[in-house]
Amino acid sequence: MKNTLLISLFSLAFVPLSAQNRDYWQQKADYKMDVSMNVKNYQYNGKQELVYTNNSNDTLKKVYYHLFNNAFQPGSEMDGRLQCIKDPDARMVTKTTVDGKEVKVSRIKNLKPDEIGYLKITNFKQDGISSTTKTIGTILEVILPKPILPKSQTTFTLDFEGQVPVQIRRSGRNNSEGVALSMTQWYPKIAEFDFEGWHADPYIAREFHGVWGNFDVKITIDKEYTIGGTGYLQNKNEIGHGYQDAGTEIVYPKKTKTLTWHFVAPMVHDFAWGADKDYLHDVVKGPNDVDLHFFYKNNPKTVENWKKLAPYMVKVMDFYNHKVGNYPYKQYSFIQGGDGGMEYAMCTLMLGNGELDGIIGTGAHELGHSWFQHVLASNESKHPWMDEGFTTYIEDLAMNEIAATKAENPFKGNYNNYYRLVASGKEQPQSTHSDRYDENRVYSIASYIKGSIFLSQLSYLIGQENLDKTLKRYYSDFQFKHPTPNDIKRTAERISGAELDWYLTDWTQTTNTIDYAIKNVEENGKNTNITLERIGRMPMPMDILVEYTDGTKESFYIPLRMMNFVKENPTPSIKRTVLNDWAWGFQSYTFEIQKSKNTIKRIIIDPSELMADVKKDNNVFLNVTEEKK
Ligand SMILES: [Zn+2]
Repeated sequence: MKNTLLISLFSLAFVPLSAQNRDYWQQKADYKMDVSMNVKNYQYNGKQELVYTNNSNDTLKKVYYHLFNNAFQPGSEMDGRLQCIKDPDARMVTKTTVDGKEVKVSRIKNLKPDEIGYLKITNFKQDGISSTTKTIGTILEVILPKPILPKSQTTFTLDFEGQVPVQIRRSGRNNSEGVALSMTQWYPKIAEFDFEGWHADPYIAREFHGVWGNFDVKITIDKEYTIGGTGYLQNKNEIGHGYQDAGTEIVYPKKTKTLTWHFVAPMVHDFAWGADKDYLHDVVKGPNDVDLHFFYKNNPKTVENWKKLAPYMVKVMDFYNHKVGNYPYKQYSFIQGGDGGMEYAMCTLMLGNGELDGIIGTGAHELGHSWFQHVLASNESKHPWMDEGFTTYIEDLAMNEIAATKAENPFKGNYNNYYRLVASGKEQPQSTHSDRYDENRVYSIASYIKGSIFLSQLSYLIGQENLDKTLKRYYSDFQFKHPTPNDIKRTAERISGAELDWYLTDWTQTTNTIDYAIKNVEENGKNTNITLERIGRMPMPMDILVEYTDGTKESFYIPLRMMNFVKENPTPSIKRTVLNDWAWGFQSYTFEIQKSKNTIKRIIIDPSELMADVKKDNNVFLNVTEEKK
């Protein structure tokens, strides 16, 4: 299958830069790593060669690497944060009772030297010349002997020694589900330098932003262990473990205790793997001939659930291909990693035990990140709503698609969650850095939920058809790049013709809320005047449905002046009148219906409920006199 791989390498490497700012550039990092894992003491060592291309106009005198493992040490910044935050991640703390009060203790705080994680770098060279390095927590700073000029290439080499921490979060060993090695954020990873400068963020909790490039990774490990991870296995007929071509008999060299697994991953920005002695390994054909790999522990319930998981994931991948665009690699792996779920290039490490529904949901979510993070690599640390929110949006659609009974509005729960956050008074703007939220709960709702509503509400603004086209165009224009919030907004503008600057600003950079009301309904001769009021700060166009006592319905649409746009009628079966636009500066708006008040049964603002109006009871007018008859 090497030929296929070469073709895909070629097609992925020469992505046209059309439809994007001509000045766009991104760095490139091509890794070669050779690693050896000691499965007895969970220590590993390796060599890394990194060919780094500086496509910027800056001369770089320093570079930074992430040493994520160092977060799992007592006294680390992650440990410190865990001890301060009001609602620490339950997986990262133990609960004890002191003086009758429940106290949560950081699990990192109590790690012993042979349980901590670390990554130590030695012998750093740039083009063969020794370089000065300094480790600051989870960051390695390198003073370069030779500044990297704009549009030039350099080669970094280094040796590293690591220890896999007892699993606290994401990466680690021997977790609660008994998986030996969850190898995520495990290698020295160069920080991204983009149009905003360096992103050498410390590893406090979340999340990531990486450099696009090609990975060539050799892992030597005890021959009993099965590995699942990023990349295509190059020596599958030497390795076996379920990767070999059908009918191939695997004969290991005599006396061999280890195997060296050789993976190649083209155009990715991360590399993760999991390994266990007891992994079962299934390969199922997905859409477009993509191989879906499943690695899970050999427990009766896990086996039963993971066998059922596979056909669902085939359907979900097919759904995402149609909704957003084709998955561009030829392989994807679902790996039981034993802690939550986390997206990586061409794979996920996720919880494997538990109920089937939960596993399907997690699998659908993490697979969705292949589109919104591992192809459209927005900066997760700065804009978590772009990957978590958009993934939640397509996940909710996919889950509704495969559900036995389909909901008319699969996003209803998201809106209710958002309303509860607003009511709590704790909301922070979505433009907050993902580590800077006061509470984990506030982060989760702002990024997953409010991020998903960014899209479902966009369909209220520009129409479902325009939103569907927007997602496809966004995917084709920005794949294998680092799209920013403005890129999704501009794409929606290009598709629909609407002006959406106000939407991006109000929704993602403020905590302004939407609250429109029906203020007054009064007779005006034979007609009826309806007066609406804008109570919230945020502007919105209005869809209004009027139901009459004779059972007929009609709708009215009030365009928002600053959008310069008229939406298609979302319900063509109901006659719609487009009224004069409403300019935000005016707090109220009156329009006339050419029917008498007593013929009106009900008036409702936004019957679709896709507009996130935080106060719903003032959205409805019920004609009480009519009701009493
Ligand atoms: Zn996610």
